[in-house]
Amino acid sequence: MEKKLVVITGASSGFGAEIAKQLSELGYPLLLLARRIERLEALKLPKTLCRQVNITDRHSFEQAIKEAESQFGNVDCLVNNAGVMLLGNIEQQDAEEWENMFATNVLGLLHGMQLVLKKMKKNQSGTIINISSLAGRKTFEHHAAYSGTKFAVHGITETVRWELAPYNVRVITVSPGAAETELLEHTSRQDIKQGYTEWKSSINGVISAQDVAKAVVFCYQLPQNVCIREIAIAPTKQQN
Ligand code: NDP
Repeated sequence: MEKKLVVITGASSGFGAEIAKQLSELGYPLLLLARRIERLEALKLPKTLCRQVNITDRHSFEQAIKEAESQFGNVDCLVNNAGVMLLGNIEQQDAEEWENMFATNVLGLLHGMQLVLKKMKKNQSGTIINISSLAGRKTFEHHAAYSGTKFAVHGITETVRWELAPYNVRVITVSPGAAETELLEHTSRQDIKQGYTEWKSSINGVISAQDVAKAVVFCYQLPQNVCIREIAIAPTKQQN
């Protein structure tokens, strides 16, 4: 069967880049979005449109989807993966950091869902995969605002899953634990970064972006009438 269009946000590194590579190998046409377009283009994937989009800018997000649909047909799957994690304590954290996290992790994800769901409903088919986190199910030290964004992702995903179920559209949460990507690099507090890095070493390293990408691809490749509502995937040695 001919493979349909998949949109991946935050495909310039980490999980997004790996999901893109794995789906491309399976023959899917892709729309890859991120701010660092040179990183998207460097993947050199066939049947792929790369666009520089900040997902908090709804207009450019929408334009990129329209352009990809005119080339490859309607979006069959959206992987809402783009996100930022700026760890800190509310008492000291700069408000700009949590504004950035809520704008990207929550509002950007909502834009993505709204931009694709009308056509999916009409087609009676489609899949939205939202990348949340174990921090969307429970709390961790220094994670207050980040955890807030990911609890929001869980609530949004489960509600929209309920709303779209009658239309045969799947809405899925994938919740990774600690994985090796660029995510931690953006945290401004050096002491928190160092503590996190030491904890990762203490459990002999964490899972890879490839591991998480495999889980995403697995959910998507099941038949349309089978919806894995949620996957929590973490290093075996991660206790919390
Ligand atoms: P990375 O930092 O490697 O990747 C994040 C991606 O998001 C990048 O491609 C980045 O691209 C993109 N991005 C960030 N902000 C924006 C924006 N405003 N507009 C468009 N793209 C944006 O981290 P991960 O791969 O780890 O993160 C992917 C998702 O996984 C995130 O939602 C994260 O919260 C979640 N997660 C990660 C875990 C981990 O341990 N790694 C654990 C649990 C969840 P660019 O900068 O080019 O725009």
